[in-house]
Amino acid sequence: MHFSELPLDKTILKAINEIGYSTPTPIQEKTIPLILENKDLIASAQTGTGKTAAFALPIIEKLIWNQNSKKKGKKIRALIVSPTRELAVQIQDDFKTYGKYTNLRTTVVFGGTSIEPQKEILNKGVDVLIATPGRLLDLRKQEILSLSHIQTLVLDEADLMLDMGFIADVKKIEALCPKKKQTLLFSATIPEKIDQLANRILKSPIKIEI
Ligand code: AMP
Repeated sequence: MHFSELPLDKTILKAINEIGYSTPTPIQEKTIPLILENKDLIASAQTGTGKTAAFALPIIEKLIWNQNSKKKGKKIRALIVSPTRELAVQIQDDFKTYGKYTNLRTTVVFGGTSIEPQKEILNKGVDVLIATPGRLLDLRKQEILSLSHIQTLVLDEADLMLDMGFIADVKKIEALCPKKKQTLLFSATIPEKIDQLANRILKSPIKIEI
């Protein structure tokens, strides 16, 4: 399969062509059409399988569809929750690369660093936010951001979030987002607790194993 066979906007195809991707990886082939159909997914996939693009490309595509519907000021419409700063920054870099020819705005927030610059960027408005759980809840508590326009929530490396003790925070974050949204859960392994979390927050999820 070639990327051009997937229903992705030409601006996205141009960006991925430029970085030299020619064919989608197996997880991308499976997830991209399902995410575009607004399905909830639970995917077991390791880092290195191309899982970031597997959710980033269809999220960008869906944001492009509605790009001009609201001119008032950007609202966060896609939220990616990541356990570590390094991973969050990597996801942000990937969104920037794939969305290079769109006018979507992406930012990343994480703890262990000054909150003020993050507030400034958020105040200007972003479409896609990548965040570690604690800092996200801090910013929400300070009313710097709203999660009430989230259309797609991604929980990345869910098993790592469990190991790091973030599951209560993840549940809080999910509850702060609208009920009607798409939720995508990615995890290298699916231990019992992650399965329980998925059963609680995903709607008729499709299971994908790579
Ligand atoms: P990830 O699993 O998201 O950490 O991605 C692993 C690596 O694969 C990253 O360096 C990506 O840039 C790269 N990658 C993702 N999708 C593709 C693709 N379809 N073709 C070639 N490389 C890719």
